[in-house]
Amino acid sequence: TRLADQISAGEVIERPASVVKELVENSIDAQSTKIDVVIEDTNHQVIKVIDNGTGIVPEQVELAFRRYATSKISQSEDLTRIHSLGFRGEALPSIASIAKVTMQTSDGIHPGVQLQVMGGQLGTKQPAASRRGTTVVVSDLFYNTPHRRRYLKSANTELAKITETINQLALGHPQIAISLRHNQKEVLQTAGRGNLQQVIGGIYNNQILKQLLAVDRSTDDFIVHGYIGKPELTRASRNYISLIINGRYVRNADLSKAVIAGYGSKLMVGRFPMVILELTIDPSRLDVNVQPTKQAVRLLDHQELGLFLTETISQRLQKQNL
Ligand code: ADP
Ligand code: MG
Repeated sequence: TRLADQISAGEVIERPASVVKELVENSIDAQSTKIDVVIEDTNHQVIKVIDNGTGIVPEQVELAFRRYATSKISQSEDLTRIHSLGFRGEALPSIASIAKVTMQTSDGIHPGVQLQVMGGQLGTKQPAASRRGTTVVVSDLFYNTPHRRRYLKSANTELAKITETINQLALGHPQIAISLRHNQKEVLQTAGRGNLQQVIGGIYNNQILKQLLAVDRSTDDFIVHGYIGKPELTRASRNYISLIINGRYVRNADLSKAVIAGYGSKLMVGRFPMVILELTIDPSRLDVNVQPTKQAVRLLDHQELGLFLTETISQRLQKQNL
């Protein structure tokens, strides 16, 4: 029902950045190699995500907006080994229940179609260009839930959240060319050649690369690839500890602590390291179905993974005589 959609939208969509996250994750799941995000702050903010992924065949376009309809898992066992970023089938119906959404999509074989959905009401499908990929335009977010609209911060604050979201997605997917433009201005553009260093340089700056140490290590259970900051490269918050597990940017206090522990007493008191690590683990050891935004995760082996991280970092610093 529409009310149920609006309620679940409250859990998934807190702000414009949540819309961006869900749309870009869908583009990633659709095997896109190029994803462009365009934000326009006109009278009402417009969010546009353009991808070159698989697209959706004409008959299935309406289904994408149905609650709990997902093309990504088909049996309950699939829930124990999730390879995609999405799997709950909630994002598009949620967004469409509290905003105006236009989707244009084609698989590059069938003729393209365009569908408009507003306040959960599906419009009629129109023919559209047949370029392979999907474009989703979202505007008038929270137009029918004014109490939520009031919680939105200034355009600058919302843009900062959007940028943070795109940065996290780009760090997790260096093989995809991801761009963010705001009012015609380029905020980020990654090359999509799988070079994590290039992504880090684009997000922060190229100077920082000189203060990072490359880390590559694998055991039977874990693979880690990425960069750790030298102990002098400190930050005032833990937010610069970026952990990406199986392509998903995760927030996990225990793992952040394990990273910090790897530095021992080398950090200045009250300061935190800068770390970007991509971890690969068996998906059945990772429960991502903890909350609707899927950023909190439960790990079956979180102690083992924590120890692995602490050890990896302290060994790397030792090797450098730091
Ligand atoms: P979920 O991602 O959890 O499956 P969503 O509501 O985000 O649920 O999307 C619903 C469905 O719409 C997806 O399962 C997918 O089949 C389709 N879809 C959404 N966005 C895209 C896209 N950019 N390219 C191809 N298919 C898409
Ligand atoms: Mg999704």
